[in-house]
Amino acid sequence: MPLRTTTSAAIAATACLLTGVALIAPAAATKPGSGGTTGTGSVFMVNPVQSSGDQSLTDQKDAASAVPATAYATVPLRNLDGSGYLVGKWANVRSNTGPAAYSTTNTFSFTRDDDRFEQVMSYFWVNQAQEYLQSLGFGSTLPAANAESQDVRVDQYGIDNSYSTDKQDFIRLGKGGVDDAEDGEVIVHEYGHAVHDAQVPGFGSSLDAGSIGEAFGDYLAVTVGLDAARQYGWPVLAPEPCVADWDSISYTSTTPHCLRRLDTGLVLEDRRGEVHYDGTIWSAALWDIRQRYVALGLGTRAWDTTLVDSQFDYAPDTSFQAAAKATYLTALDRDGRKAADAVRAGFAERHIYF
Ligand SMILES: [Zn+2]
Repeated sequence: MPLRTTTSAAIAATACLLTGVALIAPAAATKPGSGGTTGTGSVFMVNPVQSSGDQSLTDQKDAASAVPATAYATVPLRNLDGSGYLVGKWANVRSNTGPAAYSTTNTFSFTRDDDRFEQVMSYFWVNQAQEYLQSLGFGSTLPAANAESQDVRVDQYGIDNSYSTDKQDFIRLGKGGVDDAEDGEVIVHEYGHAVHDAQVPGFGSSLDAGSIGEAFGDYLAVTVGLDAARQYGWPVLAPEPCVADWDSISYTSTTPHCLRRLDTGLVLEDRRGEVHYDGTIWSAALWDIRQRYVALGLGTRAWDTTLVDSQFDYAPDTSFQAAAKATYLTALDRDGRKAADAVRAGFAERHIYF
């Protein structure tokens, strides 16, 4: 379905409007999860378009035959609680579209036409995203960032965006076109909202903050996906800055299919007052600074660490300029003067000055 516009009320609820997916904010973490069992599952390698480069793939009403067997990979499902369900240390998957996946041997091998496939994708990608943050030090050398068993609901009626200002905390992944949870980047985008909200409760209560939230979700989706591709040896045959290559098959007509991109080249004056659109200004800065960190020899992990660490310092209703300054100061503290200059330059390219 197409992108949706939003209102300030919706922004205030820290809700996500990505193809009918919603994060309901914020959380009281009361989750079990000793997380000691490793199962196996079948998942897409981020998504079938990114791993194959085939921009002609289509949904075909959720048919298994629409996607070749080579689009799937068998992966470890780590941190399961051993109950036989897709419940574990970092993810707690529930389904409203059929039976909950269950296996006495913790083996979850389904194709995309089976609703349980989306449950496996949800578990794997939420766990993967939290493991990535942990690998950067969040939860050990740095404060934790959403280190709890994240509730994820795979929902038939996720087509409409849901907002809530109550104290629930879950990711909702809907159906319609390509099922949202068939694209790892959609799942991790949503997880990005949960991370932000865990870092700064109520984050997103201004237009700029809402835009930063969408931008971070897009950026996190891409960086976690690329890191997973490296970890598991998966091909990346679509443009790296393209977000949700597979989900967007259903509502984009030009190729490459992208819900959004991290390299639009937009600047501050291009703002339209819509969080997803305006967010591409911020995400373009994040993507640009990533390249600058690589050029400095610091690497993408250093930038991702600094970025996430800086987000603890963003006010819930921050402006682009204030958030950029907080990021700059974190870079200066963590990575030194050259890195800080790179951060300033990356934001300046987008006409974000401080
Ligand atoms: Zn979103």
